[in-house]
Amino acid sequence: MDKKRILSGMQPSGRLHIGNLLGALNKWVAMQEEYDCYYFVADWHALSTSYEDTHEIKDNIFNMLVDWLAAGIDPEKATIFIQSRIPEHAALYLLLGMITPVSWLERNPTYKEKMEEIKGKDLATYGFLGYPVLQAADILMYKANMVPVGVDQLPHLELTREVARRFNYIYKKDVFVEPEALMSEVLKLLGTDNRKMSKSYGNAIMMADTPEEIKKKVSTMVTDPQRIRRNDPGDPEVCNVYSFHKIFTPAGETANICASCKKAEIGCTDCKAILAENLNRYLRPMQERRSLILAKPEKVWEAVDEGTLKAQKIAKATMKEVQEAIRL
Ligand code: SF4
Repeated sequence: MDKKRILSGMQPSGRLHIGNLLGALNKWVAMQEEYDCYYFVADWHALSTSYEDTHEIKDNIFNMLVDWLAAGIDPEKATIFIQSRIPEHAALYLLLGMITPVSWLERNPTYKEKMEEIKGKDLATYGFLGYPVLQAADILMYKANMVPVGVDQLPHLELTREVARRFNYIYKKDVFVEPEALMSEVLKLLGTDNRKMSKSYGNAIMMADTPEEIKKKVSTMVTDPQRIRRNDPGDPEVCNVYSFHKIFTPAGETANICASCKKAEIGCTDCKAILAENLNRYLRPMQERRSLILAKPEKVWEAVDEGTLKAQKIAKATMKEVQEAIRL
């Protein structure tokens, strides 16, 4: 039986942190075993908010691709490509823009939220309002059966489904497949200072950090604020270090830490040292892969070239159907 097709993309934000690894990349790695996966660098999407500041975009693309491969994305199993190398995405975006009511875009809940959240940038642009249409074009182009999404992205996927339906209805041809949401639990890691993990806050543990850097960052992590002295009993459930242990430390050891913390039998410094060790153990295979990848960086571009050729073949076939349906 043919494998179901999955499409997912990431904006080129450069090096990824362990929140990105747990929240998305690990799932991508698992999905490539089961599905026909297309993973793309959404560089045009990055322009929807950062159109004025593009000098780092090429380096960011490369660094992100290295992290994808280091995490275990295998170009033999999944197709990886860069959005801007396939101009068919722009053509489909334009044609879908013709049939998408403006009201559908204005009611998009993340549109207003982001407008308020992102300060210092003029986002009153046509491109920013229309980026869900570009997203719809990316997904519909490959007739993806499923798209991995978190709850907050559900309205975008719904818009994609509505656009597909509207196109098929107007042109009386079932060109597009309505993609289903592939929902999964999103593991959210807080940064070392208990705020959302983000490179821009300087509180992120990066996939590419060395064992020493990780040790240093973990040593600064915020713990139970009530535990002031070494002999104060702690409450692991309010401690971010403990949330990390639950993910990176074996269950038995985590249970011991929990009990010892409550009885003040372990100090935070020792507890953090155990975490740093386990986190480094978790990341070691990725660091080894990273060294191999960086020894032959041309292989990264070869994988992207091959993936782009494969993806573009599908994109061209879809555009032929689209043009025929519209009678262009
Ligand atoms: S001992 Fe560990 S779990 Fe307990 S408060 Fe300190 S860092 Fe947190």
